[in-house]
Amino acid sequence: MNDSKSCRNFVAEHIDVLPKSGIRKFFDLVNTMDNVISLGIGEPDFVSPWTICESAIYSLERGRTSYTSNLGLLSLRKAICSYVNKYFNLQYDPQKECIVTVGVSEAFDLVIRAITEPGDEIIYHEPCYVSYNAEIKMAHGVAVPVDTHEKNEFALSPADLEKAITPRTKAIILNFPCNPTGALLTPEQSAAIAEIAVRHDLLVIADQIYSELHYDSDSMDSIASLPGMKERTIFLHGFSKAFAMTGFRIGYACGPAQIIDAMMKIHQYSMLCAPITAQYAAEEALKNAIPDMQNMVEQYKARRNLIVSRFNEIGLPCVNPHGAFYVFPNIQSTGLSSQDFAEELLNRECVAVVPGSAFGACGEGYIRCSYATSMDEIRLAMDKIEHFVKSLKQ
Ligand code: PLP
Repeated sequence: MNDSKSCRNFVAEHIDVLPKSGIRKFFDLVNTMDNVISLGIGEPDFVSPWTICESAIYSLERGRTSYTSNLGLLSLRKAICSYVNKYFNLQYDPQKECIVTVGVSEAFDLVIRAITEPGDEIIYHEPCYVSYNAEIKMAHGVAVPVDTHEKNEFALSPADLEKAITPRTKAIILNFPCNPTGALLTPEQSAAIAEIAVRHDLLVIADQIYSELHYDSDSMDSIASLPGMKERTIFLHGFSKAFAMTGFRIGYACGPAQIIDAMMKIHQYSMLCAPITAQYAAEEALKNAIPDMQNMVEQYKARRNLIVSRFNEIGLPCVNPHGAFYVFPNIQSTGLSSQDFAEELLNRECVAVVPGSAFGACGEGYIRCSYATSMDEIRLAMDKIEHFVKSLKQ
């Protein structure tokens, strides 16, 4: 008897039709190969600073192995709110305006589920982080991408944003510094977007996960600190990128108490709380690992400078990204699609990059390269990319 024929498809249709992440598909292939230099992975090559690891070990030694409050350890929430106050000039109440989550991933999932009614439209800029579109659809919302362009250094144009707004629009997602382009907004662009959000009475979901990784300005910022914005912004942040803590899985959201409370209900029933060991580690990061973080940022900056100049020398024009740890060079002159470019480069030179199309249709014609890898690996990868591009012209 053929069992598969006797069963109906139990998977919900809106999940069944979701495509798998383009990055995952590509890296399943990479994982079958040896000796690949990877510029593909979006995570720091650094091990978490030792003081963070030690505090996790110490918390276990002291027998701290229980659940925490649903919102997270109060001491961690206090540390988060004082960090956000000091570096972003935003005041939140740790008792009711802050929730600790399992990465920014969970914080994002919670806010989307907390605000989305079926048919609500949520706007985001493309090329963008792969989860936004899928998360909106999983919550029965309508995902509305707005293209960003190389000629604007991949910043979101306020005019293009406004054109996408309809009576069903509920929220705008902003991720600057941006994955995959490394783009930032200028203060003028942020102010214009804030004005649009206020005028149309929209929520802003600010994914600030790369905020510390900026290379050409003095301070971090958030649209939440602009006039009229704190009450309509959910500020999402975490420890994965700046503190090299991807495996600890800690993020957080700060925002209006009513929305944090709604997010807390979903978190309480689905996740209960973030892991206690990781919460102690995160608290230590904020208290004692800022110098380690600044040291990593210095190293990313040197790598960014190297990789951008090499791409431009090779003849693949590359906007100088001001933040995150990605470059997004233009490969259109090779005549290859971004998928073919990435596959050929992998097969011929054993270098892995991510096709720009994985980040939305307007990422076609570009590739994403992460420079969260050593200078030596970057130099070697760039020599191989140069060899590959020259071979295409012969
Ligand atoms: N948001 C953006 C823009 C990201 O690039 C990532 C991870 O790559 C995440 C959120 C998820 O981060 P976390 O590890 O905190 O879940």
